[in-house]
Amino acid sequence: MKAAQPPGPPVAGRLIGASHEGGPNERKHMDEEGKHREDSHRKSHPSPMRKEGESDRDFEERQALARRLSGIKHKILVLSGKGGVGKSTVAASLAVALSQSDRRVGLLDIDLHGPSIPTLLGLVEGRVTGAEGSIQPAQAADGLKVMSMGFLLPKRDDALIWRGPLKYKMIQQFLRDVEWGELDYLIVDSPPGTGDEPLSIGQLVEDADGAVIVTTPQALSISDVRKSVNFARQLNLPVLGIIENMSGFVCPECGAEVDVFGSGGGKDMAADMGVPFLGTIPIDAAMVPAGDKGELPSYLAGDSPGARAFGSVIERLARHVEQGERDSAAGRGGGAEEPGTAEEEDGS
Ligand code: ADP
Repeated sequence: MKAAQPPGPPVAGRLIGASHEGGPNERKHMDEEGKHREDSHRKSHPSPMRKEGESDRDFEERQALARRLSGIKHKILVLSGKGGVGKSTVAASLAVALSQSDRRVGLLDIDLHGPSIPTLLGLVEGRVTGAEGSIQPAQAADGLKVMSMGFLLPKRDDALIWRGPLKYKMIQQFLRDVEWGELDYLIVDSPPGTGDEPLSIGQLVEDADGAVIVTTPQALSISDVRKSVNFARQLNLPVLGIIENMSGFVCPECGAEVDVFGSGGGKDMAADMGVPFLGTIPIDAAMVPAGDKGELPSYLAGDSPGARAFGSVIERLARHVEQGERDSAAGRGGGAEEPGTAEEEDGS
């Protein structure tokens, strides 16, 4: 496993060809050793150490960012290998459900080219206010603080044409200049794939708890998730778990269950790659209009199959992450779970 690259504008192709899967024994070894190293690297360095060859300016910027983010207990990045698997819906639902359960939450949308968080949360007319170096985030229901490129574009359909270094700077600014305040969670919705945005956020948030990876059950999406898992590992970013979205459909008329995209692919893949599986979310026809109309918060507070599934997935994730917090407070280190056990714990 390669050490994380020093911060700075992402270099195109830095990770190309660097994926590493290894055989089962090698993977097991990598899991144990990797978990230990990932946890100690990320969580035990709230105040960054100077890197070899790092300029004064880069080091100071990194320290300033770490100070700014030190009021946030848990930082979780939501990734996916492919677009259209429901990653933004999952990221927004995570943030909403956590704030509905009385946690202080921020949601950062770093999909600079196609920000969908404002739509999902009914904030399309939202704007952020503030001056240089201090931006007040938009507010959604339940005190959820939200920042998105969508709040800065003059017109909704404007297209952004930026290269990697500019994107890196913008994401750095979103983290450093937004007044996040004290939070229990910062959830980051990243664009799909392993490009500039996920690479930038992975480098900038040095003490992230880890990544949640969203997939759909079919083989085409699953093969891309492997890349996301390897990507996270190369950034020393723990994989908190896989969520299998659009997993089966229950007909609201007759109750028949149909596996539209198959089922179980995410769970098998999680076991194979030695990462936790957080659960499945079914296709729920009510979710699409709720997302389109910005009514995700009321949808999640309801009792549909999708809302219930989100509830248990989020419960598992929070338990996993907060157990790690209690363990490290008690000096037990890490809170890392055995791969593939997250879902089995409560028998679902
Ligand atoms: P991504 O961020 O992966 O591109 P989105 O979150 O934008 O995907 O979701 C794409 C579309 O799929 C949206 O219209 C969303 O409402 C819908 N969707 C997501 N998850 C589900 C689900 N479990 N059931 C039904 N529709 C879903």
